[in-house]
Amino acid sequence: MTWVSSLSFILASGPIGPGRPIFEFFTPIMEVTFYVLAAISTLVFVLGVFLKVRKYWRGKPDMRLDHLPGRLSRAIRLVAQNATVGKRDRYAGIGHFMLMWGFITLFLGTVILALDYDLIRPIHPDWQFYHGDFYYIYKLVLDTLGSAFLIGLLAMMIRRGFFRLPQLNYKRVDRPAETYDRRLLKVGDAIFVGGLFLIGLTGYLLEGSRIAHDQPVSMVWSPVGSIISQFFLKLGLTAPQLVSSRVILWWIHVSLALIFVAYIPFSKAVHMLADFVNLTVRDEKAGVALPPIPEEPAPAHPGYREIRDFSWKHLLDLDSCTKCGRCHEACPARASGAPLSPRDLILDLRDHADEQLSFKALLSQRNLPVLPAGHGGNGLNGTSINPKLVAGGVIKAETLWACTTCRACVEACPVGIEHVPIIVEMRRSLLDEGDMDPKLQEALTNLSKYGNSFGLSDRLRAKWTKSLAFKIKDARKEPVEYLWFVGDFASYDQRVQDITRKVAQVFQQVGLDFGILYEGERNSGNDVRRVGEEGLFQMLAEQNMKSLGKATFKTIVTTDPHSLNALRNEYGQLGGNYEVIHYTELLYRLIESGQLRIEHPLGYHVTYHDPCYLGRYNRVFDAPRNILKTLGLQLTDMGRCRENSFCCGAGGGRIWMTETNTQERPSVNRIREAVALGNVDYFVVACPKDVTMYTDAVKTSGYEGQIAVKDIIELVHEAQSAVAASSPTAQNT
Ligand code: SF4
Ligand code: SF4
Repeated sequence: MTWVSSLSFILASGPIGPGRPIFEFFTPIMEVTFYVLAAISTLVFVLGVFLKVRKYWRGKPDMRLDHLPGRLSRAIRLVAQNATVGKRDRYAGIGHFMLMWGFITLFLGTVILALDYDLIRPIHPDWQFYHGDFYYIYKLVLDTLGSAFLIGLLAMMIRRGFFRLPQLNYKRVDRPAETYDRRLLKVGDAIFVGGLFLIGLTGYLLEGSRIAHDQPVSMVWSPVGSIISQFFLKLGLTAPQLVSSRVILWWIHVSLALIFVAYIPFSKAVHMLADFVNLTVRDEKAGVALPPIPEEPAPAHPGYREIRDFSWKHLLDLDSCTKCGRCHEACPARASGAPLSPRDLILDLRDHADEQLSFKALLSQRNLPVLPAGHGGNGLNGTSINPKLVAGGVIKAETLWACTTCRACVEACPVGIEHVPIIVEMRRSLLDEGDMDPKLQEALTNLSKYGNSFGLSDRLRAKWTKSLAFKIKDARKEPVEYLWFVGDFASYDQRVQDITRKVAQVFQQVGLDFGILYEGERNSGNDVRRVGEEGLFQMLAEQNMKSLGKATFKTIVTTDPHSLNALRNEYGQLGGNYEVIHYTELLYRLIESGQLRIEHPLGYHVTYHDPCYLGRYNRVFDAPRNILKTLGLQLTDMGRCRENSFCCGAGGGRIWMTETNTQERPSVNRIREAVALGNVDYFVVACPKDVTMYTDAVKTSGYEGQIAVKDIIELVHEAQSAVAASSPTAQNT
């Protein structure tokens, strides 16, 4: 039935049947008072929304409205199914689903009533539809979903009040408790949830008092209202008393609702509007491919130095945060005691944006002049910190440098906030100001000079091949099917080189046509870009693309998930479009095609760690697991696995910086999780950086002899060769 035929069905429903008189027992003054209050409330709401939109308008341009129908339908689906809220927390998901749909239904019910009474009836009294069958169904739907609304709210209040969930604790990780006061955040939460609950409750009381007085035939269509009417009857109120209580309850209910409408744009309730828009305009792969620094018009300085540098989408992000704390809980930096909580970073930026971009700030002209290029006022070299400074001011440099760019926050956030691109933009500004760890500075100098962070000659890059029994093709000199992009760690780090050779041996054994770039390869630049050094990233990428341009190949295969990400997702921005796969994807293809046969199935008990840049960034979850199963291994996943994997702590350039954790390193935390599974022989990884990070973690955490770290290729190699391990833990790398 189309909406036109539905409408004609409703309008042509014959003589006016049972319904409910509107404004019954109201004097004309009372009716006028209501309309005046409703107009004021709507006006305040519109003004609040205008101020918000005006704030986003001041943000930098960002193309987020392309493919709008697709974006809208995706956001509607996500919101309707409550998919992002229910993803990792079933309790919160069910509670939010009930209250959200209850709220939407009650809101639509009010709109329908207003349409009938204020629009349709004045045009043509016979067209009114708030009566008869429509009225009964309307009553039943609102009565039922109104209860869902209250139950959902109650569930959420219990969750906040009694569950003591760590993600809902507003304690800061970057400063002592006595230096801040967050009681207002809690008060805001209580007003929001408690206010909604009161609106719902007074609505039911109003309905109950009406039914108690009128005893209408339609009361069976309001089961909850009918039950509540019994309460009024038991009180033994007279008919005039019931009328008075009904009028009083009406005013309480309506006043609360009107105050709430006006309060929406100025409170946490704004997320009801902002989140839908944010989910519509979000980049589903935020952080996977970072945006380059625009060339035209060239910015005065790179990155986000002050709030005016933020794009409108990132300003909208700040208002969308519901303080659910999922990002806070998922963050490995926060867990290790580093002074970073993605939730607090967003909330601090929000407060600052409200202050700097508010109407009041503009009117009072109290904004400081725009910071001149090259002068951060960031407290370095004795300068005083400029209050407008965001990167290194509102958000401390140590907070920004603590991020591993693991993307766990982006993945966990139910409202599409893009923490990683925001952090990287601020890092760009820090780098521009020279506000960085000396170790990082040294690594970047090495990368710029030698093309690798080790500061070693490019002629040594392929030294690991010398001890192989065969020669690997130079893909720049002869065509190959697979171009193996080896990566820095696999090439230069002596602890990983043996594993790199095993990759070559397995490739050789299965007859793969492959080659490498030898000294023509450079660091892929993935982490260089994530520390904010965009110019160096582009230089490295161009050098690699030049070498790749000399080679003839079909597919790039890489052992390094970080290189995989840059080559697959970011080189395209510079014109380098390639088919790029991770070696686990290639190995599984070879297993499926029968080209790689497992001669000696292994019988170990293993767990697998999803590297951030392979799993969360590039959604490669199954290939490594399928290989492990094919190898005959018993695989037990850790609680935090796949999209919810826990970072080793090396990403985003952290591997080049000084350790700042005050509690437990993320890698040690992860090993502890694996050991807790019980009787796991191997902690299996698929990333050269993970090999070094976790091998160190096993040693320093005292778990040596209980668990050992293995790259998948070592297990494939072992299963292929006739050499069976006698004791797994004795082979600890
Ligand atoms: S990317 Fe990872 S380390 Fe950085 S803020 Fe998000 S969760 Fe924390
Ligand atoms: S940023 Fe997202 S995940 Fe973090 S607290 Fe806000 S809404 Fe929750």
